[in-house]
Amino acid sequence: MILNWHQKVNLDSKSYICGYCGNSIASAVGYLADHYNHGSQQSGHRAYIYICHKCEKPTFFNAISLEQTPGAKFGNEVKDISDEKVAKLYNEARGSFSQNAFTSVVLSCRKLLMHVAVSKGAPEGQNFIQYVEYLSDKNYIPPDAKEWVDHIREKGNEANHEIVIMSEEDAKDLIGFSEMLLKLVYEFPANIKKKKAPPAPTA
Ligand SMILES: [Zn+2]
Repeated sequence: MILNWHQKVNLDSKSYICGYCGNSIASAVGYLADHYNHGSQQSGHRAYIYICHKCEKPTFFNAISLEQTPGAKFGNEVKDISDEKVAKLYNEARGSFSQNAFTSVVLSCRKLLMHVAVSKGAPEGQNFIQYVEYLSDKNYIPPDAKEWVDHIREKGNEANHEIVIMSEEDAKDLIGFSEMLLKLVYEFPANIKKKKAPPAPTA
């Protein structure tokens, strides 16, 4: 789909990571909002919208606070996730991060890890920590990453009825851990299967 943005103008080139498509880009087209100082003719540009040249979606920049909306997602894309719900939850977690919704990131990643554990044979109805331990016991978590299980256990020990607001650091930790696991469970096995697949017969 090509989006034809009307009356866009040339702007100073700006490098940023697009919050929609995740590409690191430099854009020089979009829109700007002027800011006039009180009682003077002097003006300065205060806000910009840049259009991504890869996905053609708009990103807002406040020139004073340097805030970017939507912000860049944290973590990397994982390919070949065969379970649609898992793929959706992972994207939701990364999208929540770009909105500074760190508690939502943590909740999405927990749900994701529980879902992966059940898909790998864990019994239903267990708690988050039990599922992480299951993935570790079944060697889905590599030996050198097992200290993560303790870290996550310490972090995830609060009772369900407590409201615990999660920090940016917590959100980064859990996205990073989920990314590693999803690569091991989905992306790498799919990759080697593709390489081992017999070549398509030539007509
Ligand atoms: Zn983009």
